[in-house]
Amino acid sequence: MTRILSDDQGYKLPTRAVHAGQIEEPLSGAVMTPIYQTSTYRQQGLGKHKGYEYARTQNPTREALERNVASLEGGTYGFAFGSGLAALDAILKLFKPGDHIVSGDNLYGGSHRLMTRIYEPFGIRFSFVDTREIGNVERALTPETRLIYCETPTNPMMFLTDLRAVGDLAVSRGIPVAVDNTFATPVLQRPLEMGAEIVLHSTTKYLNGHSDMVGGMLVTSRDDLAERLGFIQNASGGVPGPMDCWLALRGTKTLILRMRQHDANGRRMAEWLTTHSKVRKVYYPGLPTHPQHELARCQMGGFGGMVSFDVEDLALSRRIVERVRLFQLAESLGGVESLIGHPASMTHASVPLEIRRRIGLTDSLLRLSMGIEDVDDLIADLKQAID
Ligand code: PLP
Repeated sequence: MTRILSDDQGYKLPTRAVHAGQIEEPLSGAVMTPIYQTSTYRQQGLGKHKGYEYARTQNPTREALERNVASLEGGTYGFAFGSGLAALDAILKLFKPGDHIVSGDNLYGGSHRLMTRIYEPFGIRFSFVDTREIGNVERALTPETRLIYCETPTNPMMFLTDLRAVGDLAVSRGIPVAVDNTFATPVLQRPLEMGAEIVLHSTTKYLNGHSDMVGGMLVTSRDDLAERLGFIQNASGGVPGPMDCWLALRGTKTLILRMRQHDANGRRMAEWLTTHSKVRKVYYPGLPTHPQHELARCQMGGFGGMVSFDVEDLALSRRIVERVRLFQLAESLGGVESLIGHPASMTHASVPLEIRRRIGLTDSLLRLSMGIEDVDDLIADLKQAID
């Protein structure tokens, strides 16, 4: 667990992206945080040390990343984990058998699997509801409900949750809201400023942005949650290594620039897809036809680089992923390079068919992670693959 430095919040987001959480390196004055590749630290005497005892508990490279992301999210405490799922695992360890969690019904498949295959057998109960309608969340609450959890926009259907509405509901019932902000990033959306109490990231995605590490992050401003999450981080030990922290930290420095391009490319691609005769549906909150476009305009500072579309024909979707040249067929998202995925057989294969049907995640749905390449090249690539 790392608390942000008190002067970090005084600057605007692009400045914080580059500088927040970085401390002067005393040996040489290196301007970049070094990779403290060590498992332990020499102590001066019994109980006498420099604040660092063992690297599962403290590591200066990890702390720099934790402070940096906490600052970007407008939070006070950051916790880095070995993956986005390890970060969710730490949230779920806050609860005990009999506790109930209301979760969005469209989640990354691995998040759903962690909840239903690992934590349900331990006695934690979940209700998966369509959080686009705040009434569904309210109706699912029980006296045992201890958390409301959602992604917004969701992976891959691009559903939105009204963060202020869910935050107000949660405050009135004394329940925290945790938001997976992986798709939007703090550049486009800061849930803590709208009533959420925990933000989760798969730093594997946009925060790192170069598809060269796996990691996760939690941010909160609540002292009591921070204390418990910090305990879990150390006691369970799902921490990332310093090299991966360093890669993520290098990524966050350019996050703002990259998000601008992801967002611009996402908008152009979504618009173009709506004009193609073989594309039946396009899911992108930046399109005026998206049912929650107005909400997206209110709570997001842009719409991002994730675009899903349905060709309503499995054979065609298969041909598209096999014919693309610039887009690469791969799991994951948020890197500088454009990827295409088939959620039903890849990222969301572990989601039960009944839920997939309910949310519209068909076998012919494709998901694009728009990289930062020239968008005309990307459109031309997809055009030749679809045609
Ligand atoms: N949250 C979202 C929205 C994701 O897309 C993913 C992975 O794809 C995760 C969480 C899990 O992150 P990780 O793969 O780093 O464990």
